Amino acid sequence: MSVPPRIGFIGLGIMGRAMALNLHRAGFQVSVYNRTRSRTTEFADLGCQVASTPRALAKMCDTIITMVSDPAAIDEVLEGPEGAASAFQGGNALINMSTLSPDYTAALAKKCYAAGVVFLDCPVSGSKAAAEKGQLVILAGAEKAALERFAPVLKTMGKEIVYAGLPPAGTALKLCVNLIVAQLTTALAESAALAQAQGIDPALIFETLAHNPAMNCGYFSLKKDNILKRDFPPAFPLRHMLKDARFMLAEAAKKRLELPVTAAVERLMTKSYNSGYGDKDLSVVLDTLAEPL
Ligand code: NAP
Repeated sequence: MSVPPRIGFIGLGIMGRAMALNLHRAGFQVSVYNRTRSRTTEFADLGCQVASTPRALAKMCDTIITMVSDPAAIDEVLEGPEGAASAFQGGNALINMSTLSPDYTAALAKKCYAAGVVFLDCPVSGSKAAAEKGQLVILAGAEKAALERFAPVLKTMGKEIVYAGLPPAGTALKLCVNLIVAQLTTALAESAALAQAQGIDPALIFETLAHNPAMNCGYFSLKKDNILKRDFPPAFPLRHMLKDARFMLAEAAKKRLELPVTAAVERLMTKSYNSGYGDKDLSVVLDTLAEPL
């Protein structure tokens, strides 16, 4: 990268905070915007500029990275009255790392192309711990030249980049990967519920899985404490996975493909969300299984 980018980071939630900190620590010039201002304090203390609106941020930077909840949040930070898009100039770049829908991402790519803005569709695989360690896997949908240009930025947040094709290929791949995460999580919860119903200690499930090299999956270890302690501090909030499950089902429906297990997972997560568990880690579905039907 010849001239280092001036990065404007939007969205300092569970993931974005860790990713922006890694960019700052790697020596990039990082300015930030977050809807809830208090989340920017630690960045101000580190000497980063804090913008009061996404538009003001875009004026200070040439590259915007977004890591916000969902399409409504992207609409707000890009297209809202004080949105970043109104300050974009030709040659600027937008790297979206939030998980959106493929349709939304394709439309965003088109808008950027029309405005002469380089667009990279780069959602991530990996949760809070991987974001903190800079070990995310980045699922990239982009022109190859753009990806090469921004690889040093992306490699600060992730250890690997998987190239999927042009946008929205990164998002399409992300949904396939999250389908597995959604099902693995509900599989763990159902297995623990069945163990308890039979008077078996759920810890024995994890012990058995750990002894079997074919089943010893790092994701199970990540969720072990949540399941065994029935404590669900958010690493991946349930409401985000519910959004993703709905994107998966909408994509499948468009292609006349049935995803019966994902559909069942979506119903379970909807029940959990309606019980008020949206901000807890998605493994909280275990508590929903324990509730009467
Ligand atoms: P999070 O902790 O809930 O943070 C969401 C961020 O979006 C916050 O900065 C929030 O601002 C901002 N936001 C939400 N609605 C907004 C709006 N209307 N206008 C402006 N800003 C808004 O979420 P996260 O876990 O970091 O996830 C971020 C994205 O990454 C999501 O798309 C998620 O699906 C995806 N993802 C998450 C994980 C994970 O394990 N957590 C892993 C891979 C991908 P406030 O601070 O003001 O609320």
